[in-house]
Amino acid sequence: MTPLYQRVAFVGLGLIAGSMALAMRRGGLVAETVGTARSAESRAIAAEIGLVDHVTDTAAEAVQGADLVVLCVPVGAMDAVAQDIAPHLAQGATVTDVGSVKQAVIDAVGPYMPDHVHFIPGHPLAGTEHSGPRAGFAELFDNRWTILTPQDGVDAAALDRLTRLWQGMGAQVDVMDPPHHDLVLAVTSHTPHLIAYTMVGVADDLRRVTDSEVIKYSAAGFRDFTRIAASDPTMWRDVFLTNKDATLEILGRFTEELFALQRAIRRGDGEHLHAYFTRTRAIRRGIIDAGQDTDAPDFGRSKR
Ligand code: NAP
Repeated sequence: MTPLYQRVAFVGLGLIAGSMALAMRRGGLVAETVGTARSAESRAIAAEIGLVDHVTDTAAEAVQGADLVVLCVPVGAMDAVAQDIAPHLAQGATVTDVGSVKQAVIDAVGPYMPDHVHFIPGHPLAGTEHSGPRAGFAELFDNRWTILTPQDGVDAAALDRLTRLWQGMGAQVDVMDPPHHDLVLAVTSHTPHLIAYTMVGVADDLRRVTDSEVIKYSAAGFRDFTRIAASDPTMWRDVFLTNKDATLEILGRFTEELFALQRAIRRGDGEHLHAYFTRTRAIRRGIIDAGQDTDAPDFGRSKR
């Protein structure tokens, strides 16, 4: 198969970049991969485990001659990285990113992009609570969605090539406008993470009262919260700082629903609780039917 890209440059070599590099290799999708990370330690690990074909010391070196550049740093770092690489981008290159928020990345990166490149923002809806160059694995995107948020007038051939790359890495691809992406993700990912962080924080406070019981008897529900709440603090800080309006909107709705459930509990309104839980159970069934999770007792994690 002819490679889709000759040289793919990753700026940032963590979970997402590493998984992309491995998935590209698995599919024989690109001729060469090159990457850089902020710290010498991450660069050394990436070179040692052969995550990409070449590791460079700087982002400027990495992007030179690349026909695809993938920005894989926290959302809050996109601005500085874009400014840094802009003068070194090759004629006709595609620049994409994997940031969890889209409008903020467009605002941060877009102004630096020269006319001779195609900027096509993206977000793979796949991840784990692990980070760093050792966290990546080739299967991360299999049967997951990647959302691309191209702007009006995008080059159709560049969009098609990037779409085929994601499909080759196992993902299904959808196109959305950036504010819609940010609202959808506030519901499906960002607010649930905040709730998990809160619940674990509450339990941590409680632990001081009940000593180690919270950990000792931590049942599946709480354990799932702790897994989500172990996600990278920098990445998640940036998500809430940059997807402020949508997360506040969803949090407002969440708080209203929580108060309604609180009232039902206080009043002993079992009918309300039962109807509510019946509705939410059907949503879980829908997610499993859509192939986005499994109903195995361990949620399929043993495969990892
Ligand atoms: P990660 O494993 O923590 O890797 C982040 C990379 O960015 C590392 O190479 C890090 O370098 C570098 N970096 C961090 N701060 C930087 C800065 N200020 N300037 C330059 N480089 C910096 O993160 P990840 O999970 O791959 O996430 C990367 C992006 O993917 C984020 O924008 C995130 O929103 C998005 N995303 C994450 C997930 C997920 O579940 N994790 C899912 C979808 C999308 P060092 O290692 O040297 O510090």
